[in-house]
Amino acid sequence: LTMSQPPSINVCPLGIIRTPYQQKFAIPRQPNLVDAARGEIIFDKGFDDPNMLRGIEQFSHLWLLFHFHQTIDQGWSPMVRPPRLGGNKKQGVLATRSTFRPNGIGMSVVKYDAVERKHGRLSLFVTGVDLLDETPIIDIKPYVPWADSIPQASGGFAAEPPAIMQVYFTAQSMPQLTHWQGHYPQLRTLIEQVLAQDPRPAYKAKQESEHEYGMSLFDLNIRWRVDNHANYVTNITHNKE
Ligand code: SAM
Repeated sequence: LTMSQPPSINVCPLGIIRTPYQQKFAIPRQPNLVDAARGEIIFDKGFDDPNMLRGIEQFSHLWLLFHFHQTIDQGWSPMVRPPRLGGNKKQGVLATRSTFRPNGIGMSVVKYDAVERKHGRLSLFVTGVDLLDETPIIDIKPYVPWADSIPQASGGFAAEPPAIMQVYFTAQSMPQLTHWQGHYPQLRTLIEQVLAQDPRPAYKAKQESEHEYGMSLFDLNIRWRVDNHANYVTNITHNKE
């Protein structure tokens, strides 16, 4: 691992984003794959000025620039193994969207949802996020379709969106889902869309039937098994249970 020492530039995060994703595991690898994932950007004092967002509602989509704060201490390397290539083929870090990059800056296009001011606190809501809960947001810009979208562009090793898996709820998890849906709107769609992405690590032989996987969304622990290329949600419990 190389840590270079370029002249530093100061960046002051505008605030953090709250998202359902409590751990890296199972977060979709790009935005908009899971449109049920809603994020709330909470602005820090100093950036808590609604004038900064004036006119933003004219744009359907926004760019978020953010800091990969959870992996930044692990440094970076010139070559990485993208999960898209099965996790065993190397690419130059700058030819990927890896989190292990110099400066640890991420960028995601998300859908604009709403601006709210509650309890004197300014919030910007967006959907389709691929960000960990409490990720520092360093900039926000409108997405400009004629400039930012290039329909004939080629997508290299990530030319096609990832394949989608079926998701079923078992007789045990179905009533749990019904219960927790009341507390977390769109929970069913969120779980289905997240598991449809097949979050199992690419570098391990993907295990079926006997192995149970777990992830956390909000304060919930969600467990599932994989059988015959489909996901079966087996258990949904609250952290405090
Ligand atoms: N769309 C962004 C980009 O292209 O810059 C992020 C792509 S990156 C491949 C997406 C992954 O980053 C997620 O699946 C999650 O594992 C990871 N991630 C999200 N937020 C993070 C954070 N704050 N720190 C470290 N890793 C994070």
